[in-house]
Amino acid sequence: MAYARPGQADSLVRFAPRYENFIGGKWVPPVQGEYLDDVSPVDGRVFTRVARSSEADVDLAVTAARDAFPAWSATSPGERANVLLRVADRVESALERLAVAESWENGKPIREALGADLPLAIDHFRYFASAIRAQEGSISQVERDLVAYHFREPLGVVAQIIPWNFPLLLTAWKLAPALAAGNCVVLKPAEQTPASVLLFVELVADLLPDGVVNVVNGYGPEAGRALAVHPGIAKIAFTGETSTGQLIMRYAAENILPVTLELGGKSPNIFLPDVFAADDEFAAKAVEGFVMFALNQGEVCTCPSRALVHESIWDEFMDRAVRRTGELVLGDPLDPATQVGAQASAEQLAKILSYLELGREEGAEVLVGGGRRTVPGLEDGYYVEPTIFSGDNRMRIFQEEIFGPVVSATRFSDVDEAVRIANDTQYGLGAGVWSRDGNTAHRLARSVEAGRVWVNCYHAYPAHAAFGGYKRSGFGREGHVSTLGHYQQTKSVVVSY
Ligand code: NAD
Repeated sequence: MAYARPGQADSLVRFAPRYENFIGGKWVPPVQGEYLDDVSPVDGRVFTRVARSSEADVDLAVTAARDAFPAWSATSPGERANVLLRVADRVESALERLAVAESWENGKPIREALGADLPLAIDHFRYFASAIRAQEGSISQVERDLVAYHFREPLGVVAQIIPWNFPLLLTAWKLAPALAAGNCVVLKPAEQTPASVLLFVELVADLLPDGVVNVVNGYGPEAGRALAVHPGIAKIAFTGETSTGQLIMRYAAENILPVTLELGGKSPNIFLPDVFAADDEFAAKAVEGFVMFALNQGEVCTCPSRALVHESIWDEFMDRAVRRTGELVLGDPLDPATQVGAQASAEQLAKILSYLELGREEGAEVLVGGGRRTVPGLEDGYYVEPTIFSGDNRMRIFQEEIFGPVVSATRFSDVDEAVRIANDTQYGLGAGVWSRDGNTAHRLARSVEAGRVWVNCYHAYPAHAAFGGYKRSGFGREGHVSTLGHYQQTKSVVVSY
């Protein structure tokens, strides 16, 4: 049975008619009094409105964060860890409610929000609570009577700007290490999905000292830019498109700020000939790995959007992949049976449909899907059929990020060719390698230019593993204890005795 929709009497979620900014522990109306519409992609209707912030609002938020910084940065790692653990517990206690909110706002299937996004978000808070307590400094003996020892100090106020595809998970990815390290944060959610982040903030507000976390809403070129160029911030952590990442680097240059950039991808998923033997468990697992291009409607930076299948297994493997893709249940995101929900916005829908057209124009063959889908009762929602193209890696559908449930598949004849095709892209975020032969899989994993390679699995995001890009997919890492370093600066004290 589907969860009741927000607005219905028995829904777990009641969105306010409008939301302000969260600044200094309070809800603060936008200085210019303007609000923007928040549309649910499930039914294409406005369900709430959110502050449209200007420079003045950003300034208030940065000031509040700066005021909170001396006290927060002076807390012990243990104290901050306890706050993060309480945040994790609070989110866990409201898991279903947040999942419904996120599914409604972003269009993702509730089963993914419940089974992956929220549990992973919770685990990130717990992981960084542990990581900061376990972090140790170092002492170097320079001379017989000279030592240097090192402190890891927080940076100050960190600007965090996130996209719309994983609003709550990316909030956790960003906040957990920054807060653990002792920074204060001004977070700007995507204008398409601010409300679920605001519900999260409302939920945990009393656990955090005022001003430690602030949220300003609004459009990227307005609120986002104002935040990124504000002289009061000490770092920009950005997740979004590669072209926006380029702007962020320019903004950061104005104040000589460190940046971390988690950008786009066009990830290859490589299937070696030994993967496939009809009716066996490993082959079935590999086919499921292929079908993961439709997870989160393909709106995942690591979407396995290019499939490289060995020519000797192409026919049989693709038959199975096409069949499985056709079986995916597309529909109401709030129905737990749904596997493919709605695309996040009307703009995203239009972009995906334009690529479906482009693929045909380029001469790629549609093996399954290929168009918009109407869901009964949700006729104005943004639904697209999971689509497999067969074509050539130089086509634009193989080179450009579509960010929809679309995979472009091609064949290769040997491992060297697979590596060449895999690396023939401007991106370097994720990759998948499927083989029963450990040596080949290992060699391939080392040869592919990507920050995250999955072997015989895909789309696993444990907090313990560093995540980030090569090439134009960005730099810096999230998850993993090393991320703390992106939110700290090192002070060495050199002592003569
Ligand atoms: P986007 O770049 O359009 O927007 C991301 C955020 O940046 C939003 O909050 C937006 O308001 C803000 N923004 C836009 N213009 C800005 C500007 N001029 N100054 C400051 N901020 C600005 O990206 P999107 O369309 O929301 O998200 C999809 C993209 O995110 C895809 O390319 C996807 O691959 C990428 N992504 C990457 C990762 C990763 O970890 N590498 C994870 C998720 C999504």
